[in-house]
Amino acid sequence: MNEPMPGQRTDHIRKLVTDLVAFDTVSDRTNLPLIDYIERYLASLGIAGHRITDDTGRKASLWVTIGPEDKRGFVLSGHTDVVPAAGQNWSNDPFSVVERDGRLFGRGTADMKGFVAVCLAMVPDMQRAKLATPIHLAISYDEEIGCVGVRPMLREINCVPVKPLGCFVGEPTQMQVAIGHKGKHALRATFRGLAAHSSLAPTGVNAVEYAAELICEIRRRAERLATDGQRDALYDVPYATLLSSIVQGGTALNIVPDRCALEFEARGLGISESREVTDAIIGWAKAELEPRMQASHPDCGVDFEETVDYPALDMRPDHALVTLAKQIAGRNSHIKVAYGTEAGLFVGMADIPTVVVGPGAIAQAHKPDEFVALSELESCAGFIDRLIAHCADGGRLGEIRVTQD
Ligand SMILES: [Zn+2]
Repeated sequence: MNEPMPGQRTDHIRKLVTDLVAFDTVSDRTNLPLIDYIERYLASLGIAGHRITDDTGRKASLWVTIGPEDKRGFVLSGHTDVVPAAGQNWSNDPFSVVERDGRLFGRGTADMKGFVAVCLAMVPDMQRAKLATPIHLAISYDEEIGCVGVRPMLREINCVPVKPLGCFVGEPTQMQVAIGHKGKHALRATFRGLAAHSSLAPTGVNAVEYAAELICEIRRRAERLATDGQRDALYDVPYATLLSSIVQGGTALNIVPDRCALEFEARGLGISESREVTDAIIGWAKAELEPRMQASHPDCGVDFEETVDYPALDMRPDHALVTLAKQIAGRNSHIKVAYGTEAGLFVGMADIPTVVVGPGAIAQAHKPDEFVALSELESCAGFIDRLIAHCADGGRLGEIRVTQD
């Protein structure tokens, strides 16, 4: 009865991608019109989601359950925000999808409205399958600015009596199963110096020069991590990285700068490395730089504040969810990805086993003329088809059962 033809499904996915991309949900804007749209779509299928609004009232995430509410199920997770297109050289309007050569071009097509569109397109199939194991959609905001928006939703999921068995985060992996990603810890160091007329430079404390010393130390430590640090050959860059990025200091050439701010980040392997690396840098600055600054004037020094912090994903290759994901994806191998995702938070905050598997390539994300191939969206639909089959009869795909220990 009413099984959609493959072509009809593709048309449905194409329409949903086009509609979702048309909402300008760059992270600094509201995503509420897009959430309204998804809620209307689900309401037309008789489904009500649970909306979690942030403190500003301008952003919301949506938690949706298809199937029994009292059973443990699987989560399909995607974010609604996108990175800015302004200043990038696009061939077309980034918020109006253009199809060329089997590819859909537009901001967020790969990262990751394409995935969200496929999930939504598959909801009627989930309903028809009369799921024994529920499938949830976890639709978040503000992922691109440090995986911020998923956290309130995870705090709520943590409190429900029946916790999901596992989660699939649909960031672009070309439908490969990613079992790990690096963690990130980013800081802003603010140096407090002492202003003086530049002709009397030795009487001031030059905040820019002290920041420069920290930058050089960060660079030395990055080189040491590259040669002597832990390694994981599954990553493109198989060791932890450090980067100084934004530097702001000085007001006029004839004034010794009394303030300089430096933003830097560490991306580490495993759960704790990025924070260990930044803690060591803070310790070094407090021991080596601050006493010298304070010897000139007691009010001088350096303060650190955290700007981004998300944990790494580090799933065991033999975990039952990894095995299930590979079976559903039709793959024997797994990968690790360099970029961060919400997956580490699903594990770290809610103890939900998670892998990253989604359509499109990260190489296209965040760039002008971002695109996703329709063939990728179709293989994602195939993945969800097989997940539905697994959830419909409790394991037709084999003997894999995901149970939380
Ligand atoms: Zn993303």
